[in-house]
Amino acid sequence: MIDEKSRAAAHATLTAYLNTQKMRRTPERFAILDKALDMPDHFTIDSLWEALTADNYLVSRATVYSTLKLLCESCIVRRHNFEGRVSCYEKAITPTVNHQHLICTECGKVREVRDPELMRLLESRRYSTFHPGYFAIYAYGICNRCAKRRRKKLP
Ligand SMILES: [Zn+2]
Ligand SMILES: [Zn+2]
Repeated sequence: MIDEKSRAAAHATLTAYLNTQKMRRTPERFAILDKALDMPDHFTIDSLWEALTADNYLVSRATVYSTLKLLCESCIVRRHNFEGRVSCYEKAITPTVNHQHLICTECGKVREVRDPELMRLLESRRYSTFHPGYFAIYAYGICNRCAKRRRKKLP
């Protein structure tokens, strides 16, 4: 859940983006934005679509997809392609921003961790002729549970 101030900011960001793109500010787009803001940390197109349907908000999957694309382009939402899993999305607005992802290659579980020291280091980097917007760090490995299961399997 996000606070009302962040929600209002997200609405303003989408409004500004639609204006620059000369696209219509349809109620549908804002309903999808609101639902996306209420979703848990990582969600898929399908889970967002199902949540809208559960609210009796009837909208096509294609519309959810194209609206999510707009939300990504306007930096409200970020898309992740964790290896071996369907694309998932998460809010890119505060306070959920700036975390790293630890992905278990065995069970596919994604854990979020905060590493402010690493983030500060990355944000202090300067690259010639390029202005980084954000950094996405994925660490692939084995989670504790899978490691334990592996040890048990061994003779
Ligand atoms: Zn695992
Ligand atoms: Zn995340």
